[in-house]
Amino acid sequence: MIVREIVRDVESPLSESADAAVASITLDRQGSATNAIFEVRDPASERVIATPPDHSVDDGLAALARADRAGRAWARETARRRSDVLHHAYDLLIEQKDRLARIITREMGKPLAEAYGEVQYASDYVRWYAEEALRPAGNFRENPVGGSTILTSRAPIGTALLITPWNFPMAMATRKIAPAIAVGCGAVVKPAELTPLTTLAVAEIFVRAGVPEDLIQIVTTTRAADLSSALMADPRIRKVSFTGSTGVGSILLGQAAQHVIKTSMELGGNAPLLVFDDADLERAVEGAVVAKLRNGGQSCVAANRILVQSGIADAFVEGFTERMSRVVLGNGLGEGVTLGPVIDDRAVRKFSSLVDDAVAHGAELRLGGSAPDGAGHFFEATVLDRVPEASEIALTEIFGPIAAISRFDTEAEALERANSTPFGLASYVFTENIDRAFDVADRLDAGMVGINQGIVSNVAAPFGGVKASGLGREGSGEGLEEYQEIRFYNLARRAR
Ligand code: NAD
Repeated sequence: MIVREIVRDVESPLSESADAAVASITLDRQGSATNAIFEVRDPASERVIATPPDHSVDDGLAALARADRAGRAWARETARRRSDVLHHAYDLLIEQKDRLARIITREMGKPLAEAYGEVQYASDYVRWYAEEALRPAGNFRENPVGGSTILTSRAPIGTALLITPWNFPMAMATRKIAPAIAVGCGAVVKPAELTPLTTLAVAEIFVRAGVPEDLIQIVTTTRAADLSSALMADPRIRKVSFTGSTGVGSILLGQAAQHVIKTSMELGGNAPLLVFDDADLERAVEGAVVAKLRNGGQSCVAANRILVQSGIADAFVEGFTERMSRVVLGNGLGEGVTLGPVIDDRAVRKFSSLVDDAVAHGAELRLGGSAPDGAGHFFEATVLDRVPEASEIALTEIFGPIAAISRFDTEAEALERANSTPFGLASYVFTENIDRAFDVADRLDAGMVGINQGIVSNVAAPFGGVKASGLGREGSGEGLEEYQEIRFYNLARRAR
């Protein structure tokens, strides 16, 4: 087993510029009625890096009033004007990519190169919806029995409540904000309390780009449940878009049902990654490493169960473990670091217990498996082979840098095991046989299938899941429709 020193790097010009980037954010643009604050900590050092306001429910309701008022005026602007403002926002976000990437790494921990990747990916949603804002939003149909023509149009749904998780603090925010404002909605955004800073910085940039001051309200708070129930009980909220755990998603769905609010739910995953004997070994190893380690494994589409056919399994495990052993663990701002800290201590304890449980059930530990001593929330890149189906790690969403590999013999067995979960977000298939690729992809219970690659996310793709992984889609044209309501006009015609 290869164990490396972790790169802790705390004092460096890069850390100083990250601190300066964090210090440049206006923490309370809206104003809070109380002086309450909460602490945001750098997961690599556990140091407090900012103390934003801990907004109350009343602050949230005042924010809703502002967003709703601004939204009504914004909806009357032309689509061209909204598009131009979003294009300008895209340019400013890219201009500020160094600052934004440093803020992301400081508050969330991912390696700086990945934070740059997130800035680009997140900004791409803004550019995509600047373009999409101009697309035709209606159609024209004939009454099949004659006598009328039906014209359909799409109108902005109204003010949206947008609740985001901590793992992609910029992309999860822009994937919701950009389509909402592109069609003419106002938004109240509740970022995760672990990572509110990036969202605050992004909102400031939107205002500089010409978005009306009140249109996007960021409510930082530790009282998520109180805030969201109060806002959802208010008739001005017409849409809730949530990304986070299935548990919280189902609470919100209950509240949305009570008040009849349209929802989009991007929830948890348990992605299977299938490697068949006829896969290209190098491609499968590379794809599995990306699908496992992107964002330190803290991604809803991360490969959670790696299922490998017996004929290729030994070679795959050897190649994969070798590739995982090259990972450099440390502070995301450190030189050459490819795996940052995980989000908090709770996650570290969960990973240790998942590894212990898998080994107790008979899994073989091939790499890593421990949390290094010292400050920060770190966990080694870990490979477990021959993971039994009954172990906890095969059933739960890992959300960290642990690869759980198990083996199968037949295609039918692989599909049966892949689908034996309540979740259905992403999945991955590696095979060089095109018939098998599409056939297996069709039969996987998943909203997204990566074929011979470990990445599924793309602005042009309708991101989302089936089963307990959620409802609705984000990105692409479908993501825009989530913020619109359809209406039609039934126009009487003379009989011919
Ligand atoms: P979480 O559900 O704990 O929190 C998500 C957000 O909801 C945070 O802003 C949190 O403050 C808020 N929240 C918590 N309790 C709430 C309540 N009772 N009412 C209203 N809001 C509440 O999830 P997390 O730990 O931040 O994120 C990890 C989860 O998110 C994982 O399950 C992951 O799979 C999922 N996720 C899904 C996608 C997707 O697109 N499907 C993307 C990223 C993350």
